[in-house]
Amino acid sequence: MADEIRDANAHGDAHAGPRPPAGEAVRKPPIRVGGAVTIERKPDWLKVRWGAGETFNRLEAELRSHALHTVCEEALCPNRGECWERGVATVLIMGDVCTRRCGFCAIGKGRPGALDPLEPLHVAETAEILRARYLVITSVDRDDLPDGGAAHFGACIRAVRARTGADVEALIPDFKGSRSSVQTLLAARPACLAHNVETIPELYRTVRPGSFYERSLSVLRLSKEISPETATKSNLMLGLGETREGVLRVMRDLREVGCDGLTIGQYLAPTRGHLPVKEYVHPRVFEELGDTARSMGFSFVASGPLVRSSYKADEQFHGQRVGV
Ligand code: SF4
Repeated sequence: MADEIRDANAHGDAHAGPRPPAGEAVRKPPIRVGGAVTIERKPDWLKVRWGAGETFNRLEAELRSHALHTVCEEALCPNRGECWERGVATVLIMGDVCTRRCGFCAIGKGRPGALDPLEPLHVAETAEILRARYLVITSVDRDDLPDGGAAHFGACIRAVRARTGADVEALIPDFKGSRSSVQTLLAARPACLAHNVETIPELYRTVRPGSFYERSLSVLRLSKEISPETATKSNLMLGLGETREGVLRVMRDLREVGCDGLTIGQYLAPTRGHLPVKEYVHPRVFEELGDTARSMGFSFVASGPLVRSSYKADEQFHGQRVGV
């Protein structure tokens, strides 16, 4: 497919989401931007370059041949065209069915299947073929497993490092706050442990039902207690109805538990059945919040409308300034 510019539209991904029947007008409520401007259309800064070149196709074929899932696809990430063309994907392990029901997330929900004992090998083989130097691995929530899947996650990290020497960033669920699960995960020595708080505590009931803000903070705190040398990182989505003061409070809380890195991006509703976007936040607000985060002491920060936790994660980790 030739390169083209598309909306990372109300349904998140350039390819995803229902289209209105031909001839039917799309009516959307006015949306506040930066508290000052009212618009009725998706702003230009959310248009993405979508290309499927040689690298994109090769990566897609590799993932399919190893039956691997990616959060790039499952979460309908708007950056997939760009990242995959750079040969970068975020591997989603332990299946594509999640035991929680977050209102923002496009990943399937329900009762997951058994773990695939060959998955660590398959992830490692794929990392090798992609010549990955830095790989982000994430997972669905597996509340059905006694350890939340920590041992299996650790096995994937070990397999990738043993086969490729690549650094692995583990973007983990909260493991219900279990110290032993966090310990198990850290024993596999990820370069970075990421766990996303996603939003302000006041919105948890609708955005992350089944999860708890304090528990998410405790996971990041536990990581620093168990392995102070392992970098930690978290993510915030904007546009769900959060207040600026609430965002600043979360940033302060994250620093208090020793969180090293922060990513901030615009929430995009994957489908009409997900939580609606309350606001498209202007890029200058992302810039300001990024600067504020740096001044608070975060050592790596990426803030921009299309930033996602794993967007250019290698560059984030190595302290480069990342923003889109
Ligand atoms: S930002 Fe992350 S999830 Fe999105 S396409 Fe890139 S690697 Fe995948």
